[in-house]
Amino acid sequence: MDYEAVIGLETHVQLKTRSKMWCGCANAFGAPPNTLVCPVCLGLPGTLPVPNEEALRLTALAGLLLNCTLPPRAKFDRKSYFYPDMPKNYQITQYDQPSTLDGWVEFEFNGGLARVRIKRAHLEEDVGKSLHFERTSGVDFNRAGVPLLEIVSEPDLTSADMAYAYLTALKEILVYGGVSDCDMEKGMVRCDVNVSVRPVGTRELGAKIEIKNMNSFSGVRRALEYEIPRQIEVLKHGGKLIQSTRRWDDAAGITEEMRTKEEAHDYRYFPDPDLMPLQPSEEWLAGVRARVVELPLARKQRFMRDYGLPAGDAEVFKNDVPLGDYFERVARRSPNPKAVANWVINNLRAKLAEGKSEVRGPKFEMDESLPSLAATEISLADLKFAPEALLELIALVESRTISSSAAQQVFTEMFDTGDSPRAIVERRGLAQVSDAATIEALCDQAIGANPGPVADFKAGKAAALNFLKGQVMKLSKGKANPALAGEILARKLTP
Ligand code: ADP
Ligand code: ZN
Ligand code: MG
Repeated sequence: MDYEAVIGLETHVQLKTRSKMWCGCANAFGAPPNTLVCPVCLGLPGTLPVPNEEALRLTALAGLLLNCTLPPRAKFDRKSYFYPDMPKNYQITQYDQPSTLDGWVEFEFNGGLARVRIKRAHLEEDVGKSLHFERTSGVDFNRAGVPLLEIVSEPDLTSADMAYAYLTALKEILVYGGVSDCDMEKGMVRCDVNVSVRPVGTRELGAKIEIKNMNSFSGVRRALEYEIPRQIEVLKHGGKLIQSTRRWDDAAGITEEMRTKEEAHDYRYFPDPDLMPLQPSEEWLAGVRARVVELPLARKQRFMRDYGLPAGDAEVFKNDVPLGDYFERVARRSPNPKAVANWVINNLRAKLAEGKSEVRGPKFEMDESLPSLAATEISLADLKFAPEALLELIALVESRTISSSAAQQVFTEMFDTGDSPRAIVERRGLAQVSDAATIEALCDQAIGANPGPVADFKAGKAAALNFLKGQVMKLSKGKANPALAGEILARKLTP
C-alpha cells in the first residue's frame, strides 16, 4: 500500500511594532536580559493590559494579505498553563473569535502554483526565554509580551519541500507587508509542524503528530523528511500511530516523542475579563486596507508579463524590492526592458554588492538570509548617474556605436563619476568603427598576414573565422564593429 503525507503548519511570527503588546516596553532583540520589562509584562498582580493598536492593525493587515476575512467581532482569551517562561501563568491569545479567518496563500511550487488554505491568523503574546547554564537556569523576560501572530494552515501540504516553499512564501508576504521582519536569526519565526500519513486515495486523516517549536525552515524540511517515512514504516509494519507531540533533535537528525494525547494539557480557555472585545470600525479598517501592498508573487508575475522578463530576472526583482523598483523606473521608458534588466542585474547589482560584500557573505542558508530590502535602498539612493544615462548607454550599444565590451567600461566609469555615456565614449575614444571601407582594409590586412587560418577556413574549419576576426579587432585596437568584421571576412573568404 502507498501512503501520502498530510501536513498543517502553525507559524508564529513576531509583529514589527516598537513596543510590546500590552505595555510600553520596547519590542527589541539583543538587550541585556530582563532590561525590557515592567510590572505589566512581568505579570505582577494588579496590573492591566492596554492593547497595542499597531499590533491590532498589523494583524488585520496580515489577514488581508493572506486573503482572510476580518470578522466584525474578535476577542482575547486566557490560555492557562504554568511554565517558568510564562510570567502570568496564562497567555493572552484568541481562542474561538480570532481577528482573521479563512484565507489562503498562493505560491510557486514544482513549476506550477500551489494554494494552501489558512484556517485563521490570530494575535497572542510571546513568552520569556529560558536559559540553561551549567549549574543554574534563568529566564529572560525581554521577549515576554511581544506581539505574536499565529498563522494556522489547513492540512493542505503534502511534502517536506512543499512545506518549505509555503513557509518561504509566507515569510516573503509578511516582510513585504511590513508585518514582521521574520528574522530567523533573531527567533522572529517559529513553527509547530503537524503531520500525519494516510493510504493514498483515502480521505480520513491519520493520527496527528506535532513537532514543536521549530526555528528554521530548513529544520522543518529535515524534520519532515525524517518523520514522514518514520510514520509510513510504522503503519507498513502493522503498527499504530497515536496522536502525540514530538521534538526534533537537529544534531541527531531524528524526532523523539515528548508526550501523547492522554498527557495533553487542558488549557481552560476563558475570555480575558481585562480586555474589551474588538469591533473594528469601517474607518479603522479603511486605514488598514490602505496599507495593503502588492504581493511578492503578483509582483513577479507582473514583471514577467509587463516587461517580458524571464522568470529568473523577475525573481531577482521580487527578492530585491528597491532594485526592482529602480528597474521599473528605467524600463518604463525603454523600448528594450530586457536589456535594462541585464544591466541592472549583471552590472548595477554587482557594483552595489561590491560595497557591502561583508554583510552579504554566504553566512546564512538561503531561508535564513536577511531580506535585502534596506541595504540596496541606501546604495541606490546614492547613485551618481540618472536613469536616463542607462537608457543612453543601452541606445549606444543597440546602434552599434560602441561594442558590448566597451559598454562595460563605460558603465563602470559612469557608475564611478556620474558622467554621461556619450561624454565617456568621446573622452576614451571608444566609438566603434562601423565604416565598411575601413574594416574591409583591416580584413585584407588580416587575411594577408594569416595564410594558415585562411586555408583552414577554406578547408571547412569554420572556427578559423573567429581567429581572423580576432586579428581584425586587434588591428583596430578593439574598435572595429565585430559583427561587421565577421560578415566582411566571411564574404571575402567564401568563393
Ligand atoms: P488543535 O485544535 O488540536 O490545535 P487544529 O485542528 O486546530 O488542532 O489543527 C492544528 C494544526 O494541525 C493545523 O495546522 C491543522 O492543519 C493541522 N492538522 C490537523 N489535523 C491534522 C492531521 N490529521 N494531520 C496533519 N495535520 C493536521
Ligand atoms: Zn512591559
Ligand atoms: Mg498555538
